[in-house]
Amino acid sequence: MSDNDDPAYDNTHRAFLQFLLARQTITYTEAKPILAAVQTAQTPDRPTLPEDVSQADFEYYIDALNTHISDFDFEIRSTYHQVSRERIYALVNTTSDALTQMATAHTPDEIAFVKRVLDAMFETNNTQRAEVMAVTSIQALKCAKPPNGEQQRRDSGNHTQVAAPSAALTGSQAQSVMELMVQEDWFELSAKGYHSLSPRALMELRAWLVDTYNDQGGQDSDEEDDEHVKIKFCAACREIVTVGQRCTDLSCTARVHNHCTRNLWRSQGGRQECPTCKKAWTDPPPVGEKAARQGGRPVTNGPGGRRRRSLSDEALSGAEED
Ligand SMILES: [Zn+2]
Ligand SMILES: [Zn+2]
Repeated sequence: MSDNDDPAYDNTHRAFLQFLLARQTITYTEAKPILAAVQTAQTPDRPTLPEDVSQADFEYYIDALNTHISDFDFEIRSTYHQVSRERIYALVNTTSDALTQMATAHTPDEIAFVKRVLDAMFETNNTQRAEVMAVTSIQALKCAKPPNGEQQRRDSGNHTQVAAPSAALTGSQAQSVMELMVQEDWFELSAKGYHSLSPRALMELRAWLVDTYNDQGGQDSDEEDDEHVKIKFCAACREIVTVGQRCTDLSCTARVHNHCTRNLWRSQGGRQECPTCKKAWTDPPPVGEKAARQGGRPVTNGPGGRRRRSLSDEALSGAEED
């Protein structure tokens, strides 16, 4: 229509949006050569070099795109990568969660498998002793089959969703779904072979993860039994922590990203103590795949008896490597 008349939205924006649609996430560093190329294509007599694209230029594009794509239920959001600390911008669908979107490209049995992998990340490999929140390839492959024929039901809470019976995937099917999840930027694969949720998935799945794995459904149900608060938030930035640090008191729910500690201490007037229980924050146990290697022995049976033995055993054997 007439957005040709809109000086703040031209072909360079459309070209940049095309690029984002194709790859879902981008950093400022990655955007610089792209924006330089689309601007040069627009005004060949005045070429733009990647180093000419400032952070402010980039943000200006993001803002302009956001005003145009909101009608289509999309929004570009940003978060910091928990490991690289780079700021990641992702094209997020504001009306449907990631699992709904995955369902358009995958079969129901594949989605059921992905949910079992998420259960392995956020329940089996996320205990009070060890918050790994990631799975090895072998652990993921063990999710190829639904648990032993019997109906799987969560033992407590208000989300007693009896999973519809789903067919097992073969090992190679499960492996290729895991590879696709990485290609589609829902999962990340670390150098040590752990699969975890990508920044984009954490942005898109935030509400779903809380609804599914926190029985209280609230964000800060403090002091509740840790079993009920599987998804925890950074005391500084309020984003989900799947890689970071935890309070030395294993029953305390305080978590912080490694790169957020400085902000936390600053906000506490320099006191390096737990924002919740006030214990000294020295040698905090890790959250993330390091928790599988650093002494954290996954609890095999929680008080409620959430058992998925084979996966726990696997996590345990993983803990003894290294
Ligand atoms: Zn944080
Ligand atoms: Zn604490």
